[in-house]
Amino acid sequence: MHIDVITLFYMTCGVSFVAALHTLWERRLKGSNGSEFLWWASGYAVIGLGCFLRIQPLPSAVSLALANLGVMLGYAFIFIGIARFMAVKLPNWCGPLLAASLVIWLGWIWKADIDIRTAYGSIIVAALSLGAASLLRERPGQPPYPSQQLAKTLFAIHGSIYAFRALAVVLGSSTLAQFNGVVMIAIMVEGLLWAATGPAALLTLVRERSEHRLFSASETDFLTGLDNRRAFSRRGQSLLDDTAERGACCNLLVFDLDHFKSINDRNGHQTGDEVLKIFARILQSEAQPQDIVARLGGEEFALLLAGDQTRRPETVAAAVSTRLREATLAFPGFAEPVTVSAGLASSGDCDVGLDRLVALADAALYRAKFNGRNRLERAEPVCGAPVTSGLRPAVA
Ligand code: GH3
Ligand code: MG
Ligand code: MG
Repeated sequence: MHIDVITLFYMTCGVSFVAALHTLWERRLKGSNGSEFLWWASGYAVIGLGCFLRIQPLPSAVSLALANLGVMLGYAFIFIGIARFMAVKLPNWCGPLLAASLVIWLGWIWKADIDIRTAYGSIIVAALSLGAASLLRERPGQPPYPSQQLAKTLFAIHGSIYAFRALAVVLGSSTLAQFNGVVMIAIMVEGLLWAATGPAALLTLVRERSEHRLFSASETDFLTGLDNRRAFSRRGQSLLDDTAERGACCNLLVFDLDHFKSINDRNGHQTGDEVLKIFARILQSEAQPQDIVARLGGEEFALLLAGDQTRRPETVAAAVSTRLREATLAFPGFAEPVTVSAGLASSGDCDVGLDRLVALADAALYRAKFNGRNRLERAEPVCGAPVTSGLRPAVA
């Protein structure tokens, strides 16, 4: 089979237009107003247009200049789209540098000889592709998306090939710039593969990120930003399992704000919300990174203390209670500070399920309410304790 450069240009042109349409389609389906889709789609379309101009029969010098301009502009658009997507603010000099590079091309370079033109175009494509790969690198605190690694690698390979091409031309190997040479065919094949896989990798990355965000939202309490009950069940059980494997034990504190309904009734629902947020912040600041803090529902919260023997759960509960009183003492319209009741259950050295631990802490919490509120009650040791129910339904 014989592959010629013109055929490869046609294919790259078609693939680029398809990538542009696919990207616009994804934007429509997601209902996203994210500008990255528009930058990417414009980039692929302009590259496709550049390839189309390049393969016109007997192209004039002007159409060749415009063809190359389209390709350079296309890479610039893709680069800007990736910066938007990764929420990276580009340095101020980027815009003027890019504009100057294109002006230099249009003003002078397009009239220069083939080696200079090839080197110049390759340097720009290499810089923008390697820049895109650098924008796509993982950042601390960011979840690892598999397709981010893939997209980064594709852009890095693509950029390196063009950097090598520019270097080879600058060093005098003008065969690399020949239109029908084997090197040109290899470069075009790689370009075609990049045009097919690069946009697909970026769209998969968008999808992975939005799935991750949806999943996080489904496990986050909207009002307080804490884990919700669903996240608590998943993460709590795995913390218990890990702790049991180490032969340590976990302590679970379940909190319920006292007379919360009358706080709402007297001060309004919004003030009630503020109290819930304050309490959530207090719990978070008393917790250590490995602990799990969650809003189980209504005005009921859980703090699962990971198995370390240095902290006494009673001390943590007392600190939470004191800080809540202090924080709400000065609340306008509050006759007296808000108090909280708590139940404590410890996993001991048993292999205990989370549902059972919660049921025990809950029973202790009910005793705290019954015994006058604003207090902590401890559940019976977990081993052998009879339990009939799992998590009881959330309030509200
Ligand atoms: P107890 O001391 O026995 O716990 O009494 P309580 O009034 O705190 O408990 P009760 O179960 O009678 O009332 C809980 C109230 O919590 C009723 C509900 O309107 C309120 N609540 C639940 N979720 C929210 C919320 O997201 N925001 C606000 N402001 N109130 C909420
Ligand atoms: Mg309650
Ligand atoms: Mg309550």
